[in-house]
Amino acid sequence: MTLYVNVCICIAPGADADYDRLKRDFLCSEDIWYPIRFSVTRIVRLSSSYSFADREISYLTPFTEQPKVNRLMHHATALSPRADIYVCYVGGDYFQEDNVIACACSRVSNGILKGFIVITNGAASHSNLYTLAHELGHILLTRREQGVWTNSDPDCPDGGVHHPNSQNLMHPIIPSPKSWRHPEDLITSNQRRTALRSPLLKEKSNRR
Ligand SMILES: [Zn+2]
Repeated sequence: MTLYVNVCICIAPGADADYDRLKRDFLCSEDIWYPIRFSVTRIVRLSSSYSFADREISYLTPFTEQPKVNRLMHHATALSPRADIYVCYVGGDYFQEDNVIACACSRVSNGILKGFIVITNGAASHSNLYTLAHELGHILLTRREQGVWTNSDPDCPDGGVHHPNSQNLMHPIIPSPKSWRHPEDLITSNQRRTALRSPLLKEKSNRR
C-alpha cells in the first residue's frame, strides 16, 4: 500500500525551478516524510501576469488578502482541481519580511482541504534544501481536532506551529543539511504519526 498526495507544481516567470531543483526538493521531502509520496500530477508554467518581484509577497498578510497571490491560488486550483497541494515556485529571493523564503497555507473549501505553498529562489541553495519539506510539513500536519482545524505542531507545548528543537525540520529556523543526519531523524515519531493521519492522504494498492 502506498500513501500519497497529489501535487500540482506552478512555476512563475523568474523562478529558478529547473528539473534538477524540483527533483531534489521532492525526493528530499519524500525521504523525510517517508512513507508519504508526493505524486506530481501537473507542472504548469505561469504567464507573465504571475511574475513576482523580490519582496513582493508578504508572509504575515494572509494569502487571501493579497490579490495577486489569491488570484494565483484560484488559477492553480482551476488548472488542476484534483490536486491536494499546490507548490508555486516564484522569482525573487525573499518575502517582504526579512529572511522569509517560503510560506504554506491550508484552506478548507466545501469541506475539502487543500494546501498552498509559495517558495522563492532563496530556497534554491543547498543550505536551504529542507525548505520545501518544512512547508509540506505545515500542510501535512493540518488536521481537525475536536471540531476545529489546526496546523499546530503535535510536539509544541504551547500549541504553536513550529517545533522547539533547533534540529527538528519544523523549527522556525529550518535546519541545514548535515551529512551525518539521516533524513528520517529530522522529524519525531509523533510528527510522522500525525502526518500519516492527514485527511489529504490517499492510498493505492501496490499490486498490479
Ligand atoms: Zn514554518
